[in-house]
Amino acid sequence: MDGVLTFMGTGTSTGVPTLGCNCAVCRSTDTHDRRLRPSVLLRWREPAGDGRERVVVIDTGPDFREQALRNGLTRVDAVFYTHSHADHIMGLDDLRPLSFAVFREGGPIPLYATPLAKATIARVFDYTFSPHATYPLRARVELHELAERVLVYGVEFLRVPVMHGQMRIAGYRFGRTAYLTDVSGIPEASFERLVGLDTLILSALRHKPHPTHATLEQAVLWAQRIGARQTWFTHISHELGHEETNRTLPDGIRLAYDGLSIPVDLGTASPTAEAA
Ligand SMILES: [Zn+2]
Ligand SMILES: [Zn+2]
Repeated sequence: MDGVLTFMGTGTSTGVPTLGCNCAVCRSTDTHDRRLRPSVLLRWREPAGDGRERVVVIDTGPDFREQALRNGLTRVDAVFYTHSHADHIMGLDDLRPLSFAVFREGGPIPLYATPLAKATIARVFDYTFSPHATYPLRARVELHELAERVLVYGVEFLRVPVMHGQMRIAGYRFGRTAYLTDVSGIPEASFERLVGLDTLILSALRHKPHPTHATLEQAVLWAQRIGARQTWFTHISHELGHEETNRTLPDGIRLAYDGLSIPVDLGTASPTAEAA
């Protein structure tokens, strides 16, 4: 099944430009150097029935509202969270208006998160998730504990654990594409889930080492080991200018940018991916 993946944001936690910064990338007039907080949007048409468009978002950071407007988002069928840092969850409340329409059709929007991320999200948005919440216009959403595989209208999302500092967070594989952000380490078992990829989306922060993110150089090595036909880097800091960095990258590996859309094959996730 064919789908389209759109990068709604490709910046690191601060976004680019970074507030208070006067560096060349933050002052750049190249629109590729303007990066909202990291998120991707996945759209496909269901082959059966009326060919209805289905929409999945991975992470709803603080720029989610602006990203939804830019990308003409009118519905969301499910949200997958990678982890519960602010740059990945703080736009959750902007699901409210979209959730009312989905709710009328048959239920709350399912949100998927690891147990750790789920607990944090429930605490931060306590007025939405607490059983005692009384706010009548809270988002019609339901937090689910992320299973190994989740099926959303015919598309299977396979969990791919990665390390973010000390934290084990969720990456995702859908069809022949994988989305791994905030990565500082990839467990061996997860490499097995990344065999046979067409498209790899991987975080690559900057050149200087960081305690919870891999460098660009490390990301290139992982990309080459995984060997996807094309690799797009995301979660990019203001230390990496778009044009000048792309000139240094090997063939098939490039920095993504906000608004980039690519076709993706959403056929079944790798049948060999049985690693724990
Ligand atoms: Zn992040
Ligand atoms: Zn993070």
